[in-house]
Amino acid sequence: MTTRVPNVEVTAPPGAGAGAPGEGIEVEALTKRFGDFTAVDDVTFRAEDGRITALLGPSGSGKSTVLRMIAGLEHPTDGRIAIAGEDQTEASVQDRRVGFVFQHYALFRHMSVRDNVAFGLSVRKVGKAEQRKRVDELLELVQLGPFADRYPHHLSGGQRQRVALARALAPRPRVLLLDEPFGALDARVRQDLRHWLDKLHRDLGVTSLLVTHDQEEALELAQTVVVMHRGRVEQVGSPEAVYNEPATPFVAGFVGAANVLTGQVVDGRLRFNGEQVLWDAAHIDDGSEAHAYIRPHDVRVSNSRGNGGSLPGILERSKDLGWMSKLHVRLPDGQVVIAHIPNEELGHHEPGDEVWVDLRNAKVFAPDDADGPGLADPNLSADDAESTATAAAAG
Ligand code: ATP
Repeated sequence: MTTRVPNVEVTAPPGAGAGAPGEGIEVEALTKRFGDFTAVDDVTFRAEDGRITALLGPSGSGKSTVLRMIAGLEHPTDGRIAIAGEDQTEASVQDRRVGFVFQHYALFRHMSVRDNVAFGLSVRKVGKAEQRKRVDELLELVQLGPFADRYPHHLSGGQRQRVALARALAPRPRVLLLDEPFGALDARVRQDLRHWLDKLHRDLGVTSLLVTHDQEEALELAQTVVVMHRGRVEQVGSPEAVYNEPATPFVAGFVGAANVLTGQVVDGRLRFNGEQVLWDAAHIDDGSEAHAYIRPHDVRVSNSRGNGGSLPGILERSKDLGWMSKLHVRLPDGQVVIAHIPNEELGHHEPGDEVWVDLRNAKVFAPDDADGPGLADPNLSADDAESTATAAAAG
């Protein structure tokens, strides 16, 4: 797929947006209340200039409301918004010069692709010749040159979103706001568009803020991830940081698949079933319950006891997925651990076998009163999720 930038004009001149020096988007103590309900609660983060920042969280966590406030479509109850170093909290939508792409292709049905892309330019009374030049550049950029005279209903969903993106980029926005732009598309098209957007962004360097509930999309596309939950920021960090060093139980359970095992803190360490001593839990009160979050690929299963820290269990199920197998092991206290093991590392195990599980890289948290353990995990299949919930409930 060619992703050449056809004309340097696509990147904006200094001070006018894509790739221009500036300070990205700054959001400080942003709050939005709808009546008694606080949809966005004291949210602070920065979307770095020229980078993709993802706002990641489950449905209803306040992501779109944050985006709409940055766009000027919603007025904050409190807090401050700056774009490229300028306070924009009270600025009009037009003055903010942001490009917006929504989940549902908000294309004008009665306008051709060319006229859709030119829309923002005609509103700004840009001359016809310049409009044509800019639209041609953008259509080449989104690889839709031959489709210029088609109408939206003669395009696929993925092509329509590319038109929407070209339309958003046409007036050279200072920042691009993307609200679940691929949310309505099927998995294959989503994946293709993700790669395409990644390459496009590398070429253009426009500061982008992407709202998504899809952790894979956030981790793959963004340089910074802002994890939101119930209107608040749980963690801001690189994809590696939110995945490997989750700051809260919510992040540990939402970003990436995780087994959630319940144990008890004794002498500053976590014990399961009274007998096994595992990870350091000195940050949690002695005698309390605690939850350990362990990725399925951090679980190893063997026929013999490892170097301490292993737990005995019974292999209940093993499913070969081609390159790896999913194993379900039940611990003596009833909790279930799911392991994802590359087939080349898999020993010979049969359901019913007594095995030992070695649990690596556990993150131990005090129970999160608001959520409890066993958070919904988009990466676990329904039966995995059920087992994880069982594991959590067994504590
Ligand atoms: P989704 O991915 O489902 O769009 P989200 O994380 O983007 O979720 P928001 O759309 O920002 O969440 O909504 C956050 C909360 O604010 C939700 O509970 C929603 O019902 C509420 N909300 C949003 N807009 C309004 C409104 N205009 N009036 C009242 N409540 C609203």
